[in-house]
Amino acid sequence: MLENLSQRLSKVVKTLRGEARLTEANTQEMLREIRVALLEADVALPVVRDLVARIKEKALGQEVVGSLTPGQALVGVVHRELTAIMGGQAAELDLSVRPPAIVLMAGLQGAGKTTTVGKLAKWLKENKKKKVLTVSCDVYRPAAIEQLRTVTGQAGADFFPSTADQKPVDIANAALQWARTHYHDVLLVDTAGRLAIDEQMMREIAELHRQLQPSETLFVVDAMQGQDAVNTAKAFREVLPLTGVVLTKLDGDSRGGAALSVKAVTGAPIKFAGVGEKLTGLEAFHPERMANRILGMGDIVSLVEEAHKAVDQEEAQKLAAKLKAGNRFDLNDFAGQLGQMSRMGGLSGLLDKLPAQFQQAAAGADMSKAEKQVKRMQAIIYSMTPGERARPELIKASRKRRIATGAGVPVQEVNRLLSQFDQMQSMMKKMQKGGLAKMMRGMKG
Ligand code: GDP
Repeated sequence: MLENLSQRLSKVVKTLRGEARLTEANTQEMLREIRVALLEADVALPVVRDLVARIKEKALGQEVVGSLTPGQALVGVVHRELTAIMGGQAAELDLSVRPPAIVLMAGLQGAGKTTTVGKLAKWLKENKKKKVLTVSCDVYRPAAIEQLRTVTGQAGADFFPSTADQKPVDIANAALQWARTHYHDVLLVDTAGRLAIDEQMMREIAELHRQLQPSETLFVVDAMQGQDAVNTAKAFREVLPLTGVVLTKLDGDSRGGAALSVKAVTGAPIKFAGVGEKLTGLEAFHPERMANRILGMGDIVSLVEEAHKAVDQEEAQKLAAKLKAGNRFDLNDFAGQLGQMSRMGGLSGLLDKLPAQFQQAAAGADMSKAEKQVKRMQAIIYSMTPGERARPELIKASRKRRIATGAGVPVQEVNRLLSQFDQMQSMMKKMQKGGLAKMMRGMKG
């Protein structure tokens, strides 16, 4: 995500850090590089001008010139200005009203609206412990209603059915009534999109807004459309009081223009970013962390948060208790660990959040291959009987052949997995005996 912009700006940052003295010449050169990087990223021109002017003003100011490491201080300035242009603070969803809180979703067809409703339902359920109801007011495309039913089911939320012969406002009112009587905390309202902005669609969504008085009106827009995305958001903002933007498909956006311009141009903050097709591909948007990523400084905070979420705390405690009690680490536990790894958004998702130098180091490695490898390992373990998983020493030649056939892999792969598991098990044993400190000594020696 945002690779191009990030590559250019992290190069500027790297040169800057090394500068002991800021001269007129190297400051001009740096500002020029930043300007080119932003324009190539498809950031709206007024935003580029404003950003560069602010960086320049601060660069020549006391804060930088008077500091011991002006290069470093300037990196700080660029970071702060990028954060500010994206809204500064993270903007949270306002769900503080008396339930049900209504979230109205708007956007063009194909922007990712329905997918986002599913993702949001899951996010609200898992992160905010909310009881969520979804409804589709897209009476023009029965397939869209069906799609919402499917993603809502996957998200584990409730779905309010609607049909193509109803009026959008009637559907929404009926859903609201249902949400009230069934104690839902949040009602997510999906609406019809068009291929381009048209008057009837605008009238319809404005009418829905008037009727529902939602606490959040989110505009869903495809980041890959760059400045077009920003212009569409602006047009909607003129008709609807948007409270926030969801920037979808950021995973496929190498430029970043929309991410940097939306807030400045429309006044509405980005509240969420879509980072994948799956329902797990939604992140609360944090301007500061995004600035970190753009400058190649990595997003360690998100990484740690994700790791924490992916680790099933209950499972982790059970494993710890089991090992403490002197029981051994078996293949069931190994499978659990592999599962946690894939829950963390896969290896490529992780890589995205690491600082630039690590990303470059891993550039040669084929992440999707590594991910496939993890899946194959899981398949092998799932082809074993519970008894075999608990006591891997039972697995001799004939069992190995059966497992290999079951998982659809050659026998050598089963062997490799068993020897990897052996290594991991002996590491665990050392940990059980002497704790971490002893194990580290063992590794050195
Ligand atoms: P709608 O017409 O606005 O409701 O759009 P959909 O929800 O049907 O999404 C259109 C397409 O975009 C689908 O193929 C989605 O899988 C895809 N999509 C949505 N959000 C994301 C995202 O964050 N990343 C990626 N890569 N694809 C997305």
